[in-house]
Amino acid sequence: MRIHAIETGRVRIKKAQIEGGGHGLWRQLQPMLSPDWADWSPVYAWAIEHPEGVIVVDTGAAAHLKSLPCWHPYFQLAVRFDIEPEQEVGPQLRRRGIGPRDVKTVVLTHMHIDHDGGLAHFPYSRILASGEEIARTSGIGGAILGYLPRRWPSWFAPQPVNWQPSSYGPFERTARISTAGDVIAVPTPGHTPSHLSVIVRDGADEIMLAGDASYLETTMLAGKVDGVSPDEAVAAATLGRIREFCSQRPVVYLPAHDPRAAERLQQRRAAAAPARLRERELVVG
Ligand SMILES: [Zn+2]
Repeated sequence: MRIHAIETGRVRIKKAQIEGGGHGLWRQLQPMLSPDWADWSPVYAWAIEHPEGVIVVDTGAAAHLKSLPCWHPYFQLAVRFDIEPEQEVGPQLRRRGIGPRDVKTVVLTHMHIDHDGGLAHFPYSRILASGEEIARTSGIGGAILGYLPRRWPSWFAPQPVNWQPSSYGPFERTARISTAGDVIAVPTPGHTPSHLSVIVRDGADEIMLAGDASYLETTMLAGKVDGVSPDEAVAAATLGRIREFCSQRPVVYLPAHDPRAAERLQQRRAAAAPARLRERELVVG
């Protein structure tokens, strides 16, 4: 299966958002209060050329994000976008020969503004998202939490992901995305309460499109919770589960803002989780 890494512009956030500092409310305030900006990060959307039709995971950022509501402190203090209209996911897919009618399914890992930004490019697709995530981020309540439900397309009516009690590795529930079952969703709560990730099984390769489960592969491996997860314990448990998954088998782990993600996808390079590292050392030693 061909998987495209589509860089929809760049985002700049604080270092304290990528890796949380301290605990409790203090950790969650740091992304706004800290003066330390991180370098610009990519904003990836992913397109899987699947025999059942193209599956897009997250829709990336959009040029409208260069202007954000001025009343929200997070938008004012903690985030900047750099993206032109031709860098949005729709035009980039078209340049790769994929038109809007070729995209059968769009899966949203969560509803943050740099993941639902390109929704307008997919009027003909089935759109899947966590039902709880949609409920929490809709309307005025969602706007207060830092989402932009007023910018969703008028036709936006996502289907809730259909969770089944069948486990996969350390993940207790799964939801089929492809009928063949080679593309599945797994719950990865933490960064948002109902965040999900998508796992693609392509021959011997397992590719995890992880949204913002962590910002980097390194912070996942180190178990470092980000600065915005509402519940630190839930986020830490998810990072532990992903680490366990990566130690059970080779997993190409691809968060949406990891500057090394496209390169790892191209090389199909798996995360060096502790157990597998030990294995590798034994082979070498
Ligand atoms: Zn996010």
